[in-house]
Amino acid sequence: MSPKIQILPESVTQAIAAGEVVERPASVVKELMENAIDAGSSEVIVELKMGGLQLIRVIDNGVGIDREEVPQAFQRYATSKIEKEDDLFAIHTLGFRGEALPSIISVSQTVMKTRTSATISGTKAVCEGGGVKNVTETGCPVGTELEVRNLFYNLPVKRKFLKSVRSELRACLHPFLRLSLSYPEISFRLIHEGRLLYEFPRTEFHSVRVEAIVGKEIYDHLRPIAYEEAGIRLSGFASLPSFSKGNSDGIYLYVNRRYVKDRMVHKAVMEAYRHVIPANRYPVVVLMMTLPPSAIDVNVHPTKAEVKFRDQDRVFHEVVETLRLYQKQPPTVEETVSEKKRDPVSLQMSFQTDLPPSSSRWNQEEAPWVVRETALSPEWKLDKKIPYRILGQVQGTYVLCEGERELIFIDQHAAHERILFEKLKGDYETRSILSEKLLMPILIELSAEESFLLGSLGEAFQAMGFDIEAVGERLFALRSVPSIIGQKDPKGIVRAILEELSLLRKEERGVEVIHPILVSLSCHTAIRGNAVLRREEMEGLVAQLSPFDRSTTCPHGRPVFFILPHGELAKQFKRKR
Ligand code: ADP
Ligand code: MG
Repeated sequence: MSPKIQILPESVTQAIAAGEVVERPASVVKELMENAIDAGSSEVIVELKMGGLQLIRVIDNGVGIDREEVPQAFQRYATSKIEKEDDLFAIHTLGFRGEALPSIISVSQTVMKTRTSATISGTKAVCEGGGVKNVTETGCPVGTELEVRNLFYNLPVKRKFLKSVRSELRACLHPFLRLSLSYPEISFRLIHEGRLLYEFPRTEFHSVRVEAIVGKEIYDHLRPIAYEEAGIRLSGFASLPSFSKGNSDGIYLYVNRRYVKDRMVHKAVMEAYRHVIPANRYPVVVLMMTLPPSAIDVNVHPTKAEVKFRDQDRVFHEVVETLRLYQKQPPTVEETVSEKKRDPVSLQMSFQTDLPPSSSRWNQEEAPWVVRETALSPEWKLDKKIPYRILGQVQGTYVLCEGERELIFIDQHAAHERILFEKLKGDYETRSILSEKLLMPILIELSAEESFLLGSLGEAFQAMGFDIEAVGERLFALRSVPSIIGQKDPKGIVRAILEELSLLRKEERGVEVIHPILVSLSCHTAIRGNAVLRREEMEGLVAQLSPFDRSTTCPHGRPVFFILPHGELAKQFKRKR
């Protein structure tokens, strides 16, 4: 007998449909913050418990909701923001689909308190199981407070798919920071388990908010951008070509103040920086695009994260051109001074924008101006006699040596990285990583996200030999570093590690954060390509790798060496051997 086909009860269909809007606590944070902003608030407070799994409370001082309207707010497709189909082409608010509140109440236990300035008492609505249980009078300030508890309490399967408190909290930061970035006139606070994580006071200057979010150090590399013509306005901030990041986290795109993930615009940003920053690096760009609402469609996606532009090509073109134009402004004297860590050559070269795409000069690893600092660690300068003859370096990047029956090309960076990785891993496992105290602590200012990441991974950093202490909201003092770092730029290395770690966000990282730290630490302390090596350094490398009897890759998966048998050589020359 085939199974019976049945129509699901409404409570079930509602909960299923809610999943489109509410995926995890972060989606609730986004929807509630958007509602608060749409309500004309000047102050918004977001409070979380257990990364939002236990509680998400958003308090605003906006217009509030009239008592009679309260039950309406929780109805599907009930909105005060549009009335008729035409309004869909003139949307000026973040919300308009009337889906958020009904979705949220169908998967949580929600209480709303709200009051408008027209009344002296407020209204409290208790919701459960997808509907409004009761509506009563209550005392509360003007504005709205929504309390969402136990998300997915009624969908155990969905609840199981939620991640750790840390991951959920991290995910909640995204909508919080993204919205904070585009509404400087509103003050925002984020509190987790009673601790104030972020506080952005309201300001009339976008620059103040941008600086508060990206951190002063990165902000110093940004320049304001502005463009306006025939219905498109672009404004915001973009990094100079002398700066780049290892991930795209610094790219924030907005259309009419709505954060969007738009592939086309992202491509345009990358296109504008192509050839001016190294391959695989990303700029920091906060791009606010303003277009007439009729020129875009935000209705294409349930969470409204994607938009459709009527004139895609023009938007692409204007973004590329505007960003390029601003890159050509030479750096100010101040900047050159703040850039003193870099080789001045790199600054000049960064401003040549017309190099061919294939030019490897833009690959940082191989950049000719990279100052070589790495000497091989003393422990590898072995006395071990090696059965290989060092022939020299090829392109300053590969060590060439000859064995009894073969030629061996070694990628010096990949090889050193592999060796350091193995050593660090061993030392880590035996808890014998050497740490060195810095004479003077080094201060690092991080972006909001980076400091959160560092805060939550403190133990892992400590295990690796770093002693980093929070001394301000986003200011950290680096007191000790793993000895392996030697004379290198410890600050740059910490940043690079954080960048690498933040790339892993989307996957469940669990406790395995040590591996990526080991990888980035070895990568950033290893000898680069395009660095002249001394003979004993080359010998050290060869000694460590020999015998070349198994194929090895660097921790990123690139080959470490390549063997060309003498027989192959003979074949090439049509010699018989
Ligand atoms: P939408 O935002 O798409 O209109 P929601 O389900 O998010 O749909 O909200 C439904 C309605 O409830 C809104 O249109 C608005 O009228 C009202 N509302 C929700 N949150 C607030 C708030 N914080 N302040 C004032 N009104 C609110
Ligand atoms: Mg809404």
